Amino acid sequence: MTEIGYRCTQERRIRTALPGPKSAELTERRRAVVAGGVASAVPVYAADADGGVIVDVDGNSLIDLGSGIAVTGVGASNASVAAAVAEQAQHFTHTCFMITPYEGYVRVAEELAALTPGAHEKRTALFNSGSEAVENAVKVARLTTGRSAVVAFDHAYHGRTNLTMALTAKTMPYKAHMGPFAPEIYRMPMSYPYRDPGVSGEEAAKRVIARIEAQIGADSTAALIIEPIQGEGGFIVPAPGFLPALVEWAHASGAVFIADEVQTGFARTGAWFASEHEGIVPDLITMAKGIAGGMPLAALTGRAELLDAVHAGGLGGTYGGNPVACAAALAAIDFMREHDLPGRARHIEAIVKPRLEAVAAEAGTIGDVRGRGAMIAIELVRAGTSEPDAAAAKAIAAQALSEGVVVLTCGTYGNIIRLLPPLVIGDDLLREGLGVLEAAIRTVAGGTS
Ligand SMILES: *Cc1c(COP(=O)(O)O)cnc(C)c1O
Repeated sequence: MTEIGYRCTQERRIRTALPGPKSAELTERRRAVVAGGVASAVPVYAADADGGVIVDVDGNSLIDLGSGIAVTGVGASNASVAAAVAEQAQHFTHTCFMITPYEGYVRVAEELAALTPGAHEKRTALFNSGSEAVENAVKVARLTTGRSAVVAFDHAYHGRTNLTMALTAKTMPYKAHMGPFAPEIYRMPMSYPYRDPGVSGEEAAKRVIARIEAQIGADSTAALIIEPIQGEGGFIVPAPGFLPALVEWAHASGAVFIADEVQTGFARTGAWFASEHEGIVPDLITMAKGIAGGMPLAALTGRAELLDAVHAGGLGGTYGGNPVACAAALAAIDFMREHDLPGRARHIEAIVKPRLEAVAAEAGTIGDVRGRGAMIAIELVRAGTSEPDAAAAKAIAAQALSEGVVVLTCGTYGNIIRLLPPLVIGDDLLREGLGVLEAAIRTVAGGTS
């Protein structure tokens, strides 16, 4: 692996109580003007970020184990991304690809055709957010199949716009009181090995298929959409065989198989895309988060015959494939390739998983340790049961933050601590962050220490 250089000192440094006085003042100002519905997990305001650290406005340096939700895999101020952004911004920030197109968009599409699973002809459309990519995947599936039913899964997260809110499983906080929701979305049981022990991937898929055929009808199903590893829903890795069986059924039934790789894409799970772990080739793939080193960009890539079937003007958007975001993506993708970030994600897994498994062995309150690459989670439960313990997850994240480590929670039951470190984090800093997390687990969950 090539050496990775850093601009900010890679250290955990606590100068004030967290949040410090400047962050607290910003929280006050924010209350007067920022919508209350927009919440922040951490009440600490960022002033700088690089590699594995976020430096706050009070001069504290926090270890980042969240990457702004799996976005800044290459770092939050990656030098080559920053240079590409500056260079492009000095030429043009926007012309609108639907008016005067430009090469950056085409090059991103070329990269995605080469990087995404499958050797078939592919086409790409670019958007601004993961939700928008998902919406467009559904539009393409419905148009090309002439069918309307879309199958989504328990614990799924696909976004917060109206259609994606309907696809998302969890009501609070994502959907509650914000309907009516888009019609023709059908929810099916996920393969969730920890909560569904003894059910193989094939059996879990059979259960889904029987239900689709009984309740929707194979010839009415436009698409199945699934995250190959669920993100917000709890880092759920389906049992082996589940995804391949669903792909096979979709193909036999004329339905479009959509892999939502918005969170899992771009080296995060130890492969460029999580679909690769099971050798599946989706018809459509949605991407965003890790694609452009933090710049807002999303993509829908898939079979040429699907994306080319849409009439001209049927896909697009004013900002979709913004030239600055495309330049950032090209630099980020180059960086991921040059520095073998998929390999780096596997290396992170090799550091993180054994340590969390060791803590789990002593603390009866960790029901499961799971995930792939640099996408690893622990599921907190009441000791000796599998009853979700959201309060413990929250308390552990708060305790870690007070010690200068940012970790995120997730899950349908809110009881998951998820680790999504920047892929460029140094080993020593990662180990230090894990040490703080382990101490927080022992304090809160009451392991033996
Ligand atoms: C974050 C996420 C989305 C939504 O992306 P936004 O950019 O927040 O709209 C969709 N699908 C998955 C799997 C995600 O993790």
